[in-house]
Amino acid sequence: MAHKLGIIGYGGMGAWHQESVDERIEAIAVKGVWDVREEACAKAAQKGLKVYASAEDLLADPELDMVTIATPNNFHRELSIKSLRAGKATICEKPVTMNAAELEDIIAVSRETGKLFTVHQNRRWDKDYLAVKQLLASGAVGRPYFLESRVQGSRGAMHGWRGYKLNGGGMLLDWGVHLLDQMLNLIDSPVVSVQAHLFGVFTPEVDDNIKLLLRFENKVSALLEMATNCFINLPRWHVSGTDGTAVVEDWACNGRVVKLSQAGDLAWDDDIVYTEAGPTRTMAPRPAYTTQVLPLPSPQPDWTEFYNNVVDAIDNGAPLLVTPQQALRVMQVIDLLFESEQQGRSMACYL
Ligand code: NAD
Repeated sequence: MAHKLGIIGYGGMGAWHQESVDERIEAIAVKGVWDVREEACAKAAQKGLKVYASAEDLLADPELDMVTIATPNNFHRELSIKSLRAGKATICEKPVTMNAAELEDIIAVSRETGKLFTVHQNRRWDKDYLAVKQLLASGAVGRPYFLESRVQGSRGAMHGWRGYKLNGGGMLLDWGVHLLDQMLNLIDSPVVSVQAHLFGVFTPEVDDNIKLLLRFENKVSALLEMATNCFINLPRWHVSGTDGTAVVEDWACNGRVVKLSQAGDLAWDDDIVYTEAGPTRTMAPRPAYTTQVLPLPSPQPDWTEFYNNVVDAIDNGAPLLVTPQQALRVMQVIDLLFESEQQGRSMACYL
């Protein structure tokens, strides 16, 4: 086994990294972990993992060449910097930091030490996202101009440390970072304005239900919504393009593309709908024969590409799939979204 990984923070996600890497990544073996909680350390020991005495103890192990950080968000900056300085290739969970300035500190140390730093933006391997990416690349809906991306639950407040500002809690940092990372990778154009509506419906300190609007320089706009209080869900994705509409209903990627049967077929315009309050031609439903329904692309994502790319970058200098600069751009957008909420208006930018 060429590479040995240590994990700092052995809660839900730390355990997931350990199991996923040991089961699915041939080139890496997880050697051990450090967690501040005794139960987490005991769980790791039961699995036969080495339990270190502290983060410093783990980072001092010369056998480890890679470290994954999966603690609450407020520890990411300090632990990432310590890990890089200890000479380890460092993978940090999302959100990489609390804000862009913290990430800039990490990037400076990564440059200074020459050690690899990347962020676990695993939702780039979500099937629904990749389906939209392939759909846009295929041109099936023509030129896209408005994209809607939503994740909606109804479990109420942000759970545990995610409910506290000190820990970097809240929905914008928790899920916003995923949906923004996806959107910035879909639309190849600078962001020229952002607007946030952040609601703390159940969680007094942080946002738990949010709506974000982004405008890109190339005239594409995007709406991102994340909810913990939604009882009637809208589709995961809704894409408006000049030639048609696409809907991705759910994570499993059910959905469809609907577009004109023949380009420019607008010849059914005699239909008028009469409602109690008056007639409308513009909003009259289109007869079925004028449209065609196409299936969505069906990508087969492989999350192992994330860690295999890190190995390829260490061993062969391959370019990273998730670069610190991409993560920095997302954090800059997040900083501005918080400012938008504070000021109650949209913020111009060029990011
Ligand atoms: P969690 O509460 O389940 O686990 C966090 C663990 O870190 C706990 O066991 C805690 O004891 C430990 N910890 C706290 N401070 C520490 C410190 N200073 N040093 C060492 N250990 C410490 O939380 P989680 O859900 O596993 O989230 C951890 C990180 O993973 C967060 O940054 C979160 O945003 C991220 N996450 C990512 C995904 C994803 O899909 N990429 C999913 C869930 C969580």
